[in-house]
Amino acid sequence: KLFQDCGFEAPLMSAIAKQGYEKPTPIQCQALPIVLSGRDIIGIAKTGSGKTAAFVLPMIVHIMDQPELGKEEGPIGVICAPTRELAHQIYLEAKKFSKPYNIKVSAVYGGASKHEQFKELKAGCEIVVATPGRLIDLLKMKALRMVRATYLVLDEADRMFDLGFEPQVRSIVGQIRPDRQTLLFSATMPYKVERLAREILTDPIRVTV
Ligand code: AMP
Repeated sequence: KLFQDCGFEAPLMSAIAKQGYEKPTPIQCQALPIVLSGRDIIGIAKTGSGKTAAFVLPMIVHIMDQPELGKEEGPIGVICAPTRELAHQIYLEAKKFSKPYNIKVSAVYGGASKHEQFKELKAGCEIVVATPGRLIDLLKMKALRMVRATYLVLDEADRMFDLGFEPQVRSIVGQIRPDRQTLLFSATMPYKVERLAREILTDPIRVTV
């Protein structure tokens, strides 16, 4: 299996090559075709598996597929991650693949200036990577609107729940239109995560690596 088989456009293919990614990792092999087809997915995978590219690459395709990109406002892709470190890593990965397309990525998390993040979101972006608590704060402050959000990723869902973010995650999901595509990644599937998946995913396909 090769990245070419995913039907990525030349600019994305060269960004992938520039990263030195020669072929998809096992989670990418399994997840990319499913996510590119528009289906919801439960990905049971750990950090180090290449799961970030498995949700970032189809996100870029999804964004570029939107008609009249500039008409509405607010992010199209929303990624929730448990910690600022992980959010930052995802941000860096998303930036690499967004570069050829002029897609703007913002990262918002605790421990950094809320005012600066407010200004950044107000300026507009297509992708936001966030920790749940900070995203809720910024939504309350009306720093962003979720009207355009149609691609939602919950990364390391089990860790978000361990850190007590279940109410925040549920609040965020509740603010995103139900016709979205939803991707849930988790290293483990405890009951609470299984229950959330049942409630917020539509007919998901489950992949395990
Ligand atoms: P992740 O599990 O998403 O945190 O990725 C772990 C590491 O693998 C990161 O340093 C990625 O840049 C790298 N990586 C992801 N996909 C590939 C690939 N297809 N080939 C080589 N390295 C990759």
